[in-house]
This record gives sequence, C-alpha cells and structure tokens, in this order.
Amino acid sequence: MESSTEPVRRSLKSARVVAFAGAGISAESNVPTFRGADGLWRNYRPEALATAEAFHGDPRLVWEWYDWLRGVIHAAQPNPGHLALTELQRRAPEKFTLITQNIDGLHERAGSHDVVKLHGDLWLLRCTQCGWEGRDERVPLTPLPPLCHCGGMLRPAIVWFGEMLPVDEWERAMDAAQSAEVFLSIGTSAVVYPAAGLVQVAHRAGAKVVIVNPDPTPADELAAWVLRGPAGEILPRLL
Ligand code: NAD
Repeated sequence: MESSTEPVRRSLKSARVVAFAGAGISAESNVPTFRGADGLWRNYRPEALATAEAFHGDPRLVWEWYDWLRGVIHAAQPNPGHLALTELQRRAPEKFTLITQNIDGLHERAGSHDVVKLHGDLWLLRCTQCGWEGRDERVPLTPLPPLCHCGGMLRPAIVWFGEMLPVDEWERAMDAAQSAEVFLSIGTSAVVYPAAGLVQVAHRAGAKVVIVNPDPTPADELAAWVLRGPAGEILPRLL
C-alpha cells in the first residue's frame, strides 16, 4: 500500500488535520529512539529505565540517563519534519492539532504551539514529596538527583511506563482524533498504549489515516496511505 505524497498533500487542503508524532520524528535531529539500533545506553535498555520502579530502585542511575538525554537534546536542532508541522499549523491553526508522544520540546523550538503533550516534558521537574513543578533547562543538572526547595527529590515531569497520562492532554487528544478528517501518524512504532490507540479512534471516526515511517508498523493496516521514509524528507513534500 505504498503511496506517493501528492494525493496526501491534496487531502490535507482544507481538512481537519491531526499530526500524531513519536520519537521517530526527532531521529533526524540525532535524538535516539527507544526501539531503534541506538536504543541502548551503557548497556541499559532505556525502556527499562523509564519506570517509577527503576527510579525508586536507583534514582541516580535513572537521572544520569535523563541528564545524558537532556544534553543530547540540548545540542540538537529541530529538523525539516518538525518545521513542516509548524508550517501546516501556521496555514490553518484552527483546523490543525499536533499531538506528540515526545518529551524533547523540539516541536516548540520549531515554532509549533498548543502542542498536546501526552508524555510530559523533559525540561519540567516535579518534586516527589511536595508536588512542586518547575522548568529547569540546566545542562548538565547538579546535583543528581536534583533536589526541591523542600528537600525532596525531583523527578522529570514525564509519563513513565505504567503511569497515567495527563487527563487534560488525553481529553484534548481524544477530541481531536474523533473529529479529524486526516490523521497523520509520524515516526511512531504505534505499540505504546494508550497513545497508540488514537490511530484506531481516528480511523473508527472516519479519518483517513496516513502513516509516515521508514519501517512497517501495526497501524499500517488502518492506513489510506503509507508513506515509507524519513519524516524529515516526507513531511516537507506534503506542504
Ligand atoms: P516509538 O515507539 O515512537 O518508535 C520510533 C519509531 O520511529 C519506529 O517505528 C521507527 O521505525 C520510526 N522512525 C525511525 N526513524 C524515523 C524517521 N527518520 N522518520 C520517521 N520515523 C522514524 O518511539 P520509542 O523510541 O519506542 O519511544 C516510546 C516513548 O518513549 C515515546 O512515546 C516517548 O514518550 C519516549 N521517547 C521520547 C523521545 C523524544 O522525545 N525524542 C525519544 C525516545 C523515547
């Protein structure tokens, strides 16, 4: 079901569009995905570190990994894929919703706004004792783990495996998926639930699903169009 970009480009005109992004859109900015070939750090699987259990077991180790990731992201720049989504939003802001699973902030650095962030933000920290939350963009962070004014340990304000998604963001995502006419699923392996379920929600509600990914995903069977290739090359062709 491989497709050319031209019919997709036409379908985006004057349609209600949802762009649903995963770690793959930031791969061309050299931010590693969890499941790709680069998905190992000091012989640990990042997926195993992205849990509350790992954090409680060894907060310093988990913070070392996130501090390393913050450094990688800090040195990265948004790529043509992020910029193409910003341009789609600029053209029809009232008909475009960007939902991301990413925690890197690269969509905002590319100029996107009102991003629905399902998995939180790596640049926000939250106190495990008093619940204080605030932005901290220092690279590297010291000390590790960082401490709150109350003396409690801070954690990244992101959603770890096994944790609830933020209710407001999830409701915004569901509303957008249910009313989408075109649903672009970009750079996501579509296996991390509940976020991955948005593709089915949009499809059931009648949206035309478009997959942008160099590799097959379980969501391909729902797609009207599958665009095989890197997001940074394909998305600019949809403008
Ligand atoms: P994922 O499940 O979204 O998988 C990455 C997908 O991107 C794969 O399907 C891969 O084929 C595809 N891909 C690789 N290069 C691509 C490219 N150039 N263009 C388009 N697609 C490409 O992501 P994951 O790595 O398994 O992460 C799961 C969760 O972990 C995310 O939902 C997120 O919360 C977090 N995470 C975030 C970041 C980030 O913020 N950049 C990075 C890693 C993990």
